Amino acid sequence: MTNHLFSLVRDGVPDPAKTVIETPEGRRYSYADLIARSGAYAAALRAAGVETGDRVAVQVEKSPEVIFLYLGAVRAGAVFLPLNTAYTPAEIGYFLNDAEPAVFVCDPGRRDALAEAAAGVRRIWTLDGAGGGSAAEAADRAGDAGSAFADVPRGPEDLAAILYTSGTTGRSKGAMLTHDNLASNARTLVDFWRFTADDVLIHALPVFHTHGLFVATNTVLASGGSMLFLPRLDPKLILSLMPRASVLMGVPTFYTRLLKEPGLTPEAAGGMRLFVSGSAPLLAETHRAWQARTGHAILERYGMTETNMSTSNPYAGDRVAGTVGFPLPGVSLRVVDPETGAALGPDAVGMIEVKGPNVFLGYWRMPEKTAAEFRADGFFITGDLGKVDDRGYVHIVGRGKDLIISGGFNVYPKEVETEIDALPGVVESAVIGLSHPDFGEAVTAVVVGGPGCPDEAGVQAALEGRLARFKCPKRVLFVSELPRNTMGKVQKNLLRDAHAELYRD
Ligand code: ATP
Ligand code: MG
Repeated sequence: MTNHLFSLVRDGVPDPAKTVIETPEGRRYSYADLIARSGAYAAALRAAGVETGDRVAVQVEKSPEVIFLYLGAVRAGAVFLPLNTAYTPAEIGYFLNDAEPAVFVCDPGRRDALAEAAAGVRRIWTLDGAGGGSAAEAADRAGDAGSAFADVPRGPEDLAAILYTSGTTGRSKGAMLTHDNLASNARTLVDFWRFTADDVLIHALPVFHTHGLFVATNTVLASGGSMLFLPRLDPKLILSLMPRASVLMGVPTFYTRLLKEPGLTPEAAGGMRLFVSGSAPLLAETHRAWQARTGHAILERYGMTETNMSTSNPYAGDRVAGTVGFPLPGVSLRVVDPETGAALGPDAVGMIEVKGPNVFLGYWRMPEKTAAEFRADGFFITGDLGKVDDRGYVHIVGRGKDLIISGGFNVYPKEVETEIDALPGVVESAVIGLSHPDFGEAVTAVVVGGPGCPDEAGVQAALEGRLARFKCPKRVLFVSELPRNTMGKVQKNLLRDAHAELYRD
């Protein structure tokens, strides 16, 4: 038996001398380096007493070393557990307590601040982006043991990673991902998005999240391609790299920020073959603006930490704005009535449920929550509301937790947001339900206004003819920006908490 996930990388390796990762400062790593470096980390982890199935938790700033460490943990038979770099020591303490890793790796500059949070962890290593620190030193000491490291055999159903969800709707949950979840999804995406060893991906996403770590990185590794590894979203740098690259994967903010660059022209984007968006809804307006400016239609796809990628717009066919495309090969997707579980027909809005090799094993140490989120026939209840149109395209309408029930009527925030966003002078909006003595919940709009934006009464008047009365916001609040987490997702729970008392006497 081989190491299931790492054999995906081994099978994808073209010429070992080929560059796999390049940084803006010009550091280059070949596939041979990647194998040697990950082998050295694997040997060091085993030498430190890490056993098969142990967790290796990591909170480090993005650098190629994180990828080597990720693959090293996987090759060592351990479970890689990356943590958001924005988490505070108190939050890290919670996750370390929950995950009980054998090793915790952090940035050298954060070691002291994290000492208390990591007090219960057997071994704490540091790692800097240039490959220094105790983790790298341990790997260097592994020497020959690293280059000769024999991957710990792991089967398809064994755990490869635990990834905490983004915490958009509440406390993050640890999603247990198997070797096969990750390997099969990478293979599917290579085929579906037509990745080859000639591809060069602009990688500007964080590597503690499913998007940057798995969708972007695994797809490139499985195809033998390469990555231009940027520490963060830098629109000017991305633009300057486009002539050397072929694919960009980003969250919607990437595209709105790039659209502000005068240098974004059909010529600048000419050599690129694919722009992918996900992790949050891409406004139809951004989709259209991008096509007008570059000649490329952004390919929007849908997934979550728990399911990896579930749907994608077609590579060759119509990439329809406002939809997330079709279920990927091997993925079954259905829309059901959330109350009864009965399957719904085309265009009916309900709960999206997904089944397939992409779907995770369950939530770490939450057996009851896991049981509650799976149907008896194996479908996972995503928590997202959506519909499938008569052409088979999946539309995400919003999260079940954001659905507003006002005076007994269902109001989908996205429908109201779309109308508000279309008003002249509105930058963006978030529509939430707030507790109300008469209506149960009252539709409330939180609006970021620019020059020429109407006031509260103006917004309400403009919506009256366009939306049924029960969907029109009872109040419109103005803010300078919407709260977002590191993945660019609007944190509606923070808005609900901040304005919880709005309709109380
Ligand atoms: P938590 O589960 O902790 O509340 P989260 O759901 O934001 O956080 P992730 O797993 O990072 O954590 O995000 C998955 C969610 O992101 C999906 O359930 C969906 O709501 C949203 N999402 C992903 N892609 C898209 C998309 N293309 N369009 C709309 N929503 C999307
Ligand atoms: Mg979620």
